[in-house]
Formats: sequence, C-alpha cells, structure tokens
Amino acid sequence: MERKLADAEEWGVTRTNVRTDQRPAHGEPRHRHAQRPRAEQRPRMETKPREIIKDGKLRITFYGAAREVGRSCIMVEGKGTKILIDAGIKLGEVEEHPVIEDSMLKQIDAIVISHAHLDHCGYLPHILSNGFNGPIYALKPTFELVNVIVNDYLGISKPKGIKKDALAKMPKHYKMVEYHEEFKVKDLAIKLVPAGHILGSAMVEVREGDNRMLYTGDISLKTTKLLDPAYTEYLKASTLITESTYSGTQDVFISEKEVMAGFVKSMKETLAQGAKVIIPSFAVGKAQTVLFILDDYVRSGVLPKVPIYVDGMINKVMRIYRHNVIYCRDELQKRILMSEDDPFKSPNFHVVEGKDDRAKVIKTEEPAIIVTTSGMLKGGPVVRYLEKLGDNHVNKLIIMGFQAPGTQGSEILGGAKEVDFDGKKVKIGLKVETYRLPGHADREQLLRLIGKVQGLKNIFVIHGEEGKQKEFADELSRKYKVTLPVLKEHYEV
Ligand SMILES: [Zn+2]
Ligand SMILES: [Zn+2]
Repeated sequence: MERKLADAEEWGVTRTNVRTDQRPAHGEPRHRHAQRPRAEQRPRMETKPREIIKDGKLRITFYGAAREVGRSCIMVEGKGTKILIDAGIKLGEVEEHPVIEDSMLKQIDAIVISHAHLDHCGYLPHILSNGFNGPIYALKPTFELVNVIVNDYLGISKPKGIKKDALAKMPKHYKMVEYHEEFKVKDLAIKLVPAGHILGSAMVEVREGDNRMLYTGDISLKTTKLLDPAYTEYLKASTLITESTYSGTQDVFISEKEVMAGFVKSMKETLAQGAKVIIPSFAVGKAQTVLFILDDYVRSGVLPKVPIYVDGMINKVMRIYRHNVIYCRDELQKRILMSEDDPFKSPNFHVVEGKDDRAKVIKTEEPAIIVTTSGMLKGGPVVRYLEKLGDNHVNKLIIMGFQAPGTQGSEILGGAKEVDFDGKKVKIGLKVETYRLPGHADREQLLRLIGKVQGLKNIFVIHGEEGKQKEFADELSRKYKVTLPVLKEHYEV
C-alpha cells in the first residue's frame, strides 16, 4: 500500500489513532517497487553492524522522513557519541511515530531540534518519558514555539506512553544555542545555521574532525515579510541530508507577485459584497506570513479597510515571534525599534478570544477577513466558522497551504459540498479557492543550495514524496552519490 503524504506541519488534530509504527526488523517501507530507480541501483554506502564506526566516520540512521514527509528523526553517531537530530511525528489519517526503539533512547547523548514544527519536535515528550535524559539543543525561539505547539498537540491528541510531567520537564533539558556558534557533544562539533523556514529554524552541521555533514531541516531561500532566507554562504560538507518537499520537476513556484495578484482580486470581490473571507492557516510560520501580507494590503489601500480577525493558537505564536524579533528580518526589527509602527500590533488585527468573541465575529454584518487554525481543516476554530458561515455562497474560503489527502481540507478542495467534522456534517456552500504560499524551497532553490555546498559528495534525500524524490535524485546523481534512505538502515559516511 502506498502511504499517503501527510502534511506534518499541521498542528490541530481532532482525533488520532496513535500508532507506533514498528516495521519489520530490516525496516523495509511497505511500498517496495520491483523497478528501482537509477540512483538506488547503485551499491549503498557501506552499511556496517552497529558496533564499529571507523575513526573520523559518521554513521547516519533514519528513523523517519524516509520517502515520506513527517516524523523526521535522524541518528548521527561518531565513534563514542550518539545524537538525534529532530524528533518529529507524522500526522495524517493516523498518527505515526519514528521507528526508533524505546530501549535505545537512554543511549542518546543529546538531541538537536531544527525547528518547531510537529514533524520535527512532536516526539520529544515520548522520548523524555522513555529513557532519554540528556540535553536538547535549539535556538531560543524554537524552544518557546515547541512549548506551545507540543502542549497543544498533547492536549488534543493525547498520545499514549507519555508521562504526565513530560511537558513540564522538557525545559529542564533545554540548552539554548545561537546561530553559527559551534558547540560540542562529546567528540562531535555541532553548529546551527539559519534555514529561513520559520522563526528559529536551522540547518544542522555536524563535524567529526574534518568530516562534515549538513542537514537542511526544512529550508527556504526566499526572503519573506518576516524572515531572511537561509544562510548559504560558506557551507562546507561532504555529506548533505536535504529535505525534498517540493523537489519534483513540476515544483516550480510562480512568483509571489503573481500569486498575490490573483489573491487580492479574489479578496476584493468577496469583501465588496459585504461577505467574509475565511483563511485557514498553520499556526507557526504560514499564519504570520499571511497576516503580514494582509496588513500591508489593508494599510496601503489595496484591500478595503476591513477587520482581520485572528483566532486560535496563531495569537500566542505571534507574541513569540514578536519578542524574538531579533531573529526576524532587520527591516522588521527597525520598524519596531525606530517607530511606533509595530506590525505585530497592527490596528487591523483583532484577536478573537473564546466562544463569545467568535460568536460576535460570526454575527457581524460587515465584511471581514478571518485567519484561523487549523491549516488542513481537521479541527480548531476554523470548524466553528464553517459551521456558521460555510453554507453562504457569498462567503469565501481561501486555502493557502498544502492539504494532505484524507483531510477535510483536501475534501473541500476536491469539491465536497458536505464535510464531516467529528461526526458532525457541515455544508460547504461558500466559494473555495487556493493560492500557494510555500514555506519550503522549490526545486530550483534546492539545487541552488546544493550547488553552494563546498566539497559535497554524498546526498541523502528525505522529507518528500517518493515520486518527487526520484525525480530529484535523477538530476542530482549526475554529480553526486545520491541515496533515498531506507528506514532504520545505517549509512556510514
Ligand atoms: Zn517545517
Ligand atoms: Zn518538516
């Protein structure tokens, strides 16, 4: 059975069947194809029994995000050191966890978290409840975002095997590091480099002597309203582990200008009719970008002066962005420091707090924009809005993010006129449109990044749909040794 891609950046699950995915011992994915692509037919990089790692070598094992998006979890070992980079879960029709055995957790010396999306950090409470007792390294804003989104996830999803105090104990393990500042875990030297994806997101460089490995985490090479692009100067590594979310030959993003022209036209139409536009959004990253774009349009008169209601966890996340503005673009910092014009506190934004507030927003006769969670419409306040406003054909639902198959969001995009939310049927009579505002690099950006890495020989392609990864590997294998890793297999580099 081909596994469906899950957008693991979704935070708001209403229901989950928690399943720790214990695959067969050799860790074969369920969808082996008889025909292997060129990049995979080559002999694999040396795979060795667990005990021996040669001097100066690194051993890499993938416990998730292999031929899938979700549950990123990579073990990197030096001779006497074991670190885990990322500890994510995968949210889709069922929740899936990294395939690392609990018995191994106490052997891990440290964990490094690239950024605060659940597909990179959602497994932390489990790891801390089941034997890991070391430090967790990340940027300060990452920790603050992790606290909020993991708390939310535990509250909604209630995964098993997690101690009651796991969340409260998490901060005791936190070791804040800064970008570009090398730190050591035993004999491994580690450095985090800006990744341009969300606040605090980082690429992770691991060095054993002169042997360098670089992991992209989730990456974007585009400047956004809030963030600088990934830092791609002076990258040096013989091995790269790269994400590949949008690495397919079809993944060429049209310019934001073009996307936004269509978006604005559509918004204007709806608002001019006195109707409401609902924009479901991921709480971390996407929501902030959308809100800043909307605020700019309202301020400059491109969009009419209507209230922008902000509902759900987005508000908490906005506060974290604001007090970590030092990690945002310079321009944004200056705007806050040098003027009264604080875009985080724009008079156009109206925080919706609780049911009563929400009821008022729903009742108003005026046109309005509502930005709320969850991004894939699996739950969260957006459902309440759809219940009341979703059957009115003048209103509009604008979807700006990827919708995983099997989610209510993808059903609506597919034209469903009625959608089930936790057993409750909701009529979808409003207009539905989608505009893509990606937080990841597209194929061209990924290739540009890879071209910047000096001394590069080996590339592991992860965090993507298998089909796209194969297209990407075809291109890369002209120049590099490319591997689409298999879960639980060891690769020595
Ligand atoms: Zn991410
Ligand atoms: Zn991710």
